[in-house]
Amino acid sequence: MNLNRRDFMVAPAATIAATSILFAAEPAVPWQRKIRRLGQTNMTEHDPAVLDVEQWADYWASLKIDAVMVSVTGILAFYQTKVPYHRKGKFLGNRDFFGECCAAAKKRGMHVIARMSPDLNWEDAVQAHPEWFQRDAQGNAVRHTEDPRLFRTCMFTTYMTDYMPAIMKEINSLYDVDGMFTNAWPPLGALPVCHCEQCKNLPPAGTVAYWDKFNERITWLWKLYDSIAKEKKPSNFYFANLGGGIRSTADLVKLGEICEWFQCDNQGRGGDDTPIWGCALQGRVCHAVQKGKMSTNVTAAWSTGTPRWRNVYKSPLEEQMWFDETLASGMVPYHHIIGGENGMGEDRRWLEPARKYFEWMARHDAHFVNKRSVANVGVVMGQRTHLFYRPPRGALMREYMDGMYYALLEGRFLFDFVHEDKLAPEDLAKYSALLLPNTALLSDQQCRQLRAYVDAGGSLLATFETSLYNERNERRGDFGLADVFGIRKAGEITGTLGNAYLARIEQPHEILNGFSGTNWIPGAENRLPVAPVDDPILTVVPGFVAYPPELSYPLQARTNEPAIVVRQRGKSRLVYFPGDIERTMWRSGHTDLARLLQNAIRWVAGATQPVTVAGDGVVETFAWETQAGFAVHVLNYTNPAMHRGWIRKFYPIGGQKVRMSLPQGRRVTRVELLRAEKNIPFTGGSGSIEFTIPGVLDYEVAALHSA
Ligand SMILES: [Zn+2]
Repeated sequence: MNLNRRDFMVAPAATIAATSILFAAEPAVPWQRKIRRLGQTNMTEHDPAVLDVEQWADYWASLKIDAVMVSVTGILAFYQTKVPYHRKGKFLGNRDFFGECCAAAKKRGMHVIARMSPDLNWEDAVQAHPEWFQRDAQGNAVRHTEDPRLFRTCMFTTYMTDYMPAIMKEINSLYDVDGMFTNAWPPLGALPVCHCEQCKNLPPAGTVAYWDKFNERITWLWKLYDSIAKEKKPSNFYFANLGGGIRSTADLVKLGEICEWFQCDNQGRGGDDTPIWGCALQGRVCHAVQKGKMSTNVTAAWSTGTPRWRNVYKSPLEEQMWFDETLASGMVPYHHIIGGENGMGEDRRWLEPARKYFEWMARHDAHFVNKRSVANVGVVMGQRTHLFYRPPRGALMREYMDGMYYALLEGRFLFDFVHEDKLAPEDLAKYSALLLPNTALLSDQQCRQLRAYVDAGGSLLATFETSLYNERNERRGDFGLADVFGIRKAGEITGTLGNAYLARIEQPHEILNGFSGTNWIPGAENRLPVAPVDDPILTVVPGFVAYPPELSYPLQARTNEPAIVVRQRGKSRLVYFPGDIERTMWRSGHTDLARLLQNAIRWVAGATQPVTVAGDGVVETFAWETQAGFAVHVLNYTNPAMHRGWIRKFYPIGGQKVRMSLPQGRRVTRVELLRAEKNIPFTGGSGSIEFTIPGVLDYEVAALHSA
């Protein structure tokens, strides 16, 4: 489609008025919590020469967005800065490009966030301020891997307390901005390794002790930048790039206390083996650490993955699914394009689909304003474990969560993530069961909280090395939760050479439903031997030779080593798997392990799930209490691109039968499908409700209007 400039002419004033009507009854809510849509043309050095500012502002206004990011940067200035070493872009000339963009956005009623990048600077800055930069073990300033003219700055230096504040204060003095944002800091993906003079005083990189200092520094700088933002006006604030899913580098709970806006730099997947649910998983992380605050997920219109093309549109259906997941998981969508070559980009295919999507969404905003999640299973996300635990050789930490996640989707469970630092009784009251996928690092206090949860009737399912390390990543002699599960460590991790161990069926149990006609099922790739228990359900048949087949038979056909430990104490149900079964299921694809895991989750979760969605297909489901009532979201992942991006085509699934319990006193008067934009029949409406969503292409939202 060839879009010309006239296509972007709209009446933005009307759209902004519509947004404010939605929240007119809640004047106390700060503006950043009311945001529904966001957008950004990530500006390049060339943009002052090529980007059409009016067209840019018209486009973003036409998407009914509430705020735009405009680049100040720190690497290259987009305005006439006086801050030393803030190099002006070579196409800037005498223009005030930032100021023009800021004014154009403001004229159309959009908030403006000043975007900065504190991570890189040029050689002249290295000469003048050698103390600002990261150093390698030999003491050399660390060059950027892609453009060796740039050097990596160190967050523990005065770069962050002199240079960045100088830019922020200059912006405050010149422009009417509404907030400040830093890209690329805190660092995503990995903790820094730096040998500069400042960092020499810190604990060794990669340790929990280093992480403490890292988090102290983040909190301190965050508060400093926030105070500078507020010098402009009290409603202004500072925020930064987060994301990284479970493996976020910054302590999410500590940061959640001061963070106004959780900006997830989780832009999409490429042609690698990444499951489709990466964006929804991020939404679960945001919900776990800062309920009720703003969280946005940046969706790249550009081609994510390796290799990448920053200036070419990706598969529109992949982008659409990322928007779907953003909404379903309770975040706010954010359309992100790079550069304005030839006005708004040489590749204009990325403009119209997002506009259509955002226009659709804007018609239904009240149903995307969530009050609480309706789920009674919690999955402990184990941020510390994901950062510091070293899994057995050949294993990747993400495989544990991928395996558990897949089992939860396949079993159609509704669940939330629960951060290990949020296990107080009030945090856990709504959950009938908590799942601990190899949550190795748990403090004594966290173990006490889980014990109290079980004493109060809560159920637990844990795997492998859960609770075998404390929060400092120090290995315990026995499990921190040994008494809770009734287990005792009886050996060291046993891996697989050839044929992995088997689990012999000793007696019938609900958890073994569906395993008829066999005396054994697969075990796992690794296990931590535990002491024998009374009346075991599954026992370990140790692994043996896979090749040659002549030797492929058990040397020891029966042992009393448990392959699962199952306990019931009053209302509370407890399951411990000594094997890394969720990871082995993910790795092997074995359907027996998927069944075993789902049966076990179903058993600990109990019979009463607040929402069930039954039907064909692989789906991810969310249910929320919303501003307008309730909403049940169904994401259709039934797709050959589910495990390897990108999506090329959607494959529709048929009827999805929904049954939901309703809180006392709430009555549902209408069930509206937001994608199909039609009402559907239902039965019940108080106490509980039942209805069938006739079909789902990529995504459907059943909005339950309720007084
Ligand atoms: Zn350093």
